[in-house]
Amino acid sequence: RHVPGNLDALISALQPLQQKGYLRLDAFCLAVSQLMSNTLLPENDKGLLVALRPVPELKTEQILTLCKPRRYGDLVTTLDDRVYLFLSSCRFNDLDTALTFIFSLPHDQLFANRVLWFEDHQILAEVGKIKNVVPDSLREMPLLMESTTVEKITTGATRMPLRRIPQPVSLNLEGKRR
Ligand code: C2E
Ligand code: C2E
Repeated sequence: RHVPGNLDALISALQPLQQKGYLRLDAFCLAVSQLMSNTLLPENDKGLLVALRPVPELKTEQILTLCKPRRYGDLVTTLDDRVYLFLSSCRFNDLDTALTFIFSLPHDQLFANRVLWFEDHQILAEVGKIKNVVPDSLREMPLLMESTTVEKITTGATRMPLRRIPQPVSLNLEGKRR
């Protein structure tokens, strides 16, 4: 029997995202906004976007080591002092359940506060906003660059690679032994 050509496209559109875990901010925003634009998924019920601010004693990098998403489509990224999680197909009332599974320590000990978005337009608006934010760590770099480059970064005209400027290191090979 002849299978309609667009059946494959339909089936693949119904599959969950083939990604899980940490993504860089730009890839995270792209994946979440693509998912939000999938009209085959239920309206306002595609998942939760949550921004978590760690307690002052913890850095976002430390939080990442405790964060182990299991479900395909559960994505995580960081922006300055916030951790963003997208929880695929997670219901509003199940946020605490999902966080308990995903973090290896109790989440109320890890985070000082959280902000939650659950409707499609709210999630799209938030990822649209954060995708253009220049992280604090990059904002310090312009001091080392030409002003035209600085302008391009801050206006978003050009995407700069996330790269550190190498610093010279002296090895002191002739120095005293300790
Ligand atoms: P998946 O959704 O990517 O989930 C991967 C693994 O994360 C699961 O492996 C399970 O260990 C854990 N997990 C994800 N979501 C939940 C949850 O809501 N509660 C609990 N307790 N654990 C969760 P597992 O069980 O071997 O399942 C493998 C795959 O089979 C899942 O991949 C999913 O695609 C499918 N699956 C299994 N059970 C269900 C279900 O009840 N509903 C749906 N929709 N899919 C399921
Ligand atoms: P549960 O394990 O008590 O999870 C309750 C609800 O918490 C899930 O409802 C989902 O909304 C949310 N949740 C839990 N873990 C995760 C997670 O790792 N990621 C995300 N994004 N959300 C999570 P849901 O999906 O309707 O599942 C209802 C129940 O079905 C689950 O209760 C669990 O008993 C079972 N289940 C669902 N998916 C899986 C799976 O992949 N593997 C297994 N073993 N069980 C599953």
